[in-house]
Amino acid sequence: MTELASAPGERASDSNGAAITPINHWIDGSPVPGTSGRTAKVFNPATGQQSGAVDLASVEEVDKAVQSAKAAFVSWRGVSLAKRAELMFAIRELVHARKEDIARILVAEHGKVLSDAMGEVTRGLEVIEFACGIPTLLKGEFSEQASTGIDVYSIRQPVGVVAGITPFNFPAMVPMWMFANAIATGNTFILKPSEKDPSASLLLAELLREAGVPEGVFTVVQGDKVAVDAILNHPDIAAVSFVGSTPIARYIYETGTKNGKRVQALGGAKNHMLVLPDADVNMAADAAVSAGYGSAGERCMAIATVVAVGSVHDPLVEAINDRLPKVKVGPGSDPTAEMGPLVTKQHRDKVASYLESAAEQGATIVADGREHPLYASSEGFFLGTSLIDHVTPEMDCYRDEIFGPVLTVMQVETYEEALGLINDNPYGNGTAIFTRDGGAARQFQFDVNVGMVGVNVPIPVPVAYYSFGGWKASLFGDLHMYGPDGIQFYTRSKVVTSRWPDPSTSSVDLGFPRTR
Ligand code: NAD
Repeated sequence: MTELASAPGERASDSNGAAITPINHWIDGSPVPGTSGRTAKVFNPATGQQSGAVDLASVEEVDKAVQSAKAAFVSWRGVSLAKRAELMFAIRELVHARKEDIARILVAEHGKVLSDAMGEVTRGLEVIEFACGIPTLLKGEFSEQASTGIDVYSIRQPVGVVAGITPFNFPAMVPMWMFANAIATGNTFILKPSEKDPSASLLLAELLREAGVPEGVFTVVQGDKVAVDAILNHPDIAAVSFVGSTPIARYIYETGTKNGKRVQALGGAKNHMLVLPDADVNMAADAAVSAGYGSAGERCMAIATVVAVGSVHDPLVEAINDRLPKVKVGPGSDPTAEMGPLVTKQHRDKVASYLESAAEQGATIVADGREHPLYASSEGFFLGTSLIDHVTPEMDCYRDEIFGPVLTVMQVETYEEALGLINDNPYGNGTAIFTRDGGAARQFQFDVNVGMVGVNVPIPVPVAYYSFGGWKASLFGDLHMYGPDGIQFYTRSKVVTSRWPDPSTSSVDLGFPRTR
């Protein structure tokens, strides 16, 4: 929910007199205060206090950003591959050097713990490193003598001005997933970050400027639905990358494609961890706790549901539950904390409400995060680790993406039953199987209708030289994010058929072009 805060450009203060930082747009290579008269409050989730007021762009401000990006595209697409690679290397060095500064912004606005924030920046950096190889990535194909004296070759060209609309849960990594390949392929890029934690985008913009990226090549437009709709309706934006929840992803895909844009829209998730009876129970429990509660469950690749097959259920639930009191919940800035608060109070309360409905609907609450002392005593948006057992498919805690530190457990009798459950789920982002049986794991990889699969790996986020994306309601569009799909998404292919004939052999021929 967006709440109005101070007037734009004004350095306001909260009720205790603490400064509230204005968070602006970044257009033409500099910060630009908003002029719409609308801002939204940004909070420090660990203290519950407002720390910033982010500008919310109007349609006119989005247009200004697009005009800057459009003008920059003309010369940027002509910059040599060698120069673009050099710039990507420079960006890589600067982001690497300022990793902790970026991570501290994530801690302050998202709430995740510093070690997790550093991990986020590192995974984003890997996509920048991939884009350093842009000369190789853009190599086309060449067929000599496709017909007598005729050569055919393909080239890949940028699509123009492209936009990226990103979610709150990875305020640095997801923008890096997008802009690294978008810029390296010769496009100019407009980022619309989440209004909940928008400041990392501005530090990234500064680093790109310092690296030498020309004005207008990277732009940040802060905003809400008004800015998103302006992007979707703008005739000069050629492509839109989106990462966020499924209802918005569907809306972005439908509206963007209706307006003739290329769209990739990644949505929500409900990731199942299938544990077979032969699995190592301690290893599976460690993985379930790490993947279920890391980043307070606010990851699209978090494990939401453990599906225990047969006899492994009871020891597994016990092993998971044994580990929960040891998970240290606290502010992200505390180096000993392993799990921070949730992003907003509203989100924390919504996550907690699933404990209520699960109990009403017949599930067993094994661990209740509302019993954590910080839930009641802190102004921050804390919730402890929760474990819900005996969950069935019709319960709300299974049907909805909770996106919080709540792990649900389901017991089934067979592999086939578990597979049916996973394949019947509307989402298909990630999944994992835990087993010591290679044949079973291979069968699962073959059978499962999910885009990213882990074998004894609970969070199988593909490395930067593969592509990231789910199936079903977890992705709208054809191409996944980053890696080879990312290069394809941000470029159009052109095929050239070429002949350099001896003019003396020229003649009129109205027949269809022949190859033999
Ligand atoms: P969200 O869908 O609420 O917001 C994402 C973006 O859309 C933000 O920039 C926001 O400003 C904008 N937006 C929100 N409501 C809008 C509306 N009505 N019209 C137009 N634009 C709107 O998502 P979130 O809460 O920021 O992020 C969490 C969600 O993102 C979860 O569902 C999570 O699974 C998903 N996610 C998916 C992936 C993936 O790769 N599939 C990765 C990260 C997060």
